[in-house]
Amino acid sequence: MSLRTFSRGGVHPPEHKLSAGNKIKELPPPEIVVIPVSQHLGAPAKVLVNRGEQVKVGQLIAESGGFVSTNIHSSVSGKVLKVDEFMDSSGYRKMAVQIQVEGDEWLETIDRSDDLVRNSVLPAEDIRKKILEAGIVGLGGATFPTHVKLMVPQGKTAEYLIINGVECEPYLTADHSLMLERSEELFSGIQLLMKGLGVEKAIIGIENNKPDAIEKMKKVVEGSRIRVQGLKVKYPQGGEKQLVQALLKREVPSGGLPIDVGVVVFNVGTALAVYEAVMKNRPLIDRVVTVTGKSLKKPSNFLVRIGTPVSVLVKEAGGLPEHTAKVINGGPMMGKAFSTLDIPVVKGSSGILLIDEQEARRKEVKPCIRCTKCLSVCPMGLEPYLLMNLSEKSLFERMEPEKVLDCIECGSCSYTCPSSRPLLDYIRLGKAEVGKIKRARKAV
Ligand code: SF4
Ligand code: SF4
Repeated sequence: MSLRTFSRGGVHPPEHKLSAGNKIKELPPPEIVVIPVSQHLGAPAKVLVNRGEQVKVGQLIAESGGFVSTNIHSSVSGKVLKVDEFMDSSGYRKMAVQIQVEGDEWLETIDRSDDLVRNSVLPAEDIRKKILEAGIVGLGGATFPTHVKLMVPQGKTAEYLIINGVECEPYLTADHSLMLERSEELFSGIQLLMKGLGVEKAIIGIENNKPDAIEKMKKVVEGSRIRVQGLKVKYPQGGEKQLVQALLKREVPSGGLPIDVGVVVFNVGTALAVYEAVMKNRPLIDRVVTVTGKSLKKPSNFLVRIGTPVSVLVKEAGGLPEHTAKVINGGPMMGKAFSTLDIPVVKGSSGILLIDEQEARRKEVKPCIRCTKCLSVCPMGLEPYLLMNLSEKSLFERMEPEKVLDCIECGSCSYTCPSSRPLLDYIRLGKAEVGKIKRARKAV
């Protein structure tokens, strides 16, 4: 099989797919969940329930707060304890609904059977409506509302649907396990997305370190218009722009989106959520999360209810090892450290990574030796050393023309720097400041 990859930059960090091959374990609802009303890009949803109210699994508890926003449903049944601000993974307190779990009572409209339902007769418009109602967002971590991505802007045409099964973060295996264990439902979800989008062609991109998933998905899609393409292992191939380039050799323009070159990209988890929403009437109330780390007793993939505290998942994976220095939300390349384990799993939670003291030890930061390694690995063609220098000196206005907003925060530059310079930390700061400058300019 010929393997493809993207052409500019990228790195190959060592893989530690410790949880690969372990079956997805479904966890029961915890005692209490905290469900934030902003689990997506865009406006927070508006809370519909009050303290003391009883709710069922799948019930709408907050409705979409605008065009770019999504519905939020209860992942458990029980009593609303509080509608208040709670800490989320950003480290800030945000509005959320806290529910005391009582039993496990689901809305009658949800089909909870394992029966595979295929061949939807629904028209595209109804598929999109069901996706909107179910509160589906990009489950790869981007959390962009799926119904918005399905609405192709005027003047643009969608030609290809790309399904992202790359999972290039070195520790994560949630998508891998979905492709192995839920391949039939995934196939159906992809067909629904094709219909909702009005495209005839779809490609599933999977890195070659998951040969079993490639084989399984190839078998499942046989005879359809969906193609499976194996990819060389290279980080950050899961980035939308890199994936489009790797699969179709199309270049998404700076500041543009894949739809500018006729493509829409969805993650495998999102395709599964679409199947469940359209064919099973099941809103997005749970997801698969990888919990992993070298010192963890049982690295695992768990199917958990949204709102479950991270501490519950860590306990299920064998408990917090003694010398844990950091718990990361996501993978080692793009993830950010949690400040506490008392925060909830949300729609965008793909992984929880525990790092011990030895791994977490930062090397001494040395001066830049102008080796240009950071330039050569940047998949966006940026100059990371320059961006860091500008950010360090608070010269944020000069970062905009240097295209800092094109940075996809992949961390390849920091990873490769022989002087251990915290490039991404400074670039993130710069991106936030440039964002503020742009918003202030618009407000004038
Ligand atoms: S500058 Fe941004 S896009 Fe380029 S390597 Fe660094 S983190 Fe990745
Ligand atoms: S990789 Fe590090 S040392 Fe080399 S040019 Fe970039 S910032 Fe400087």
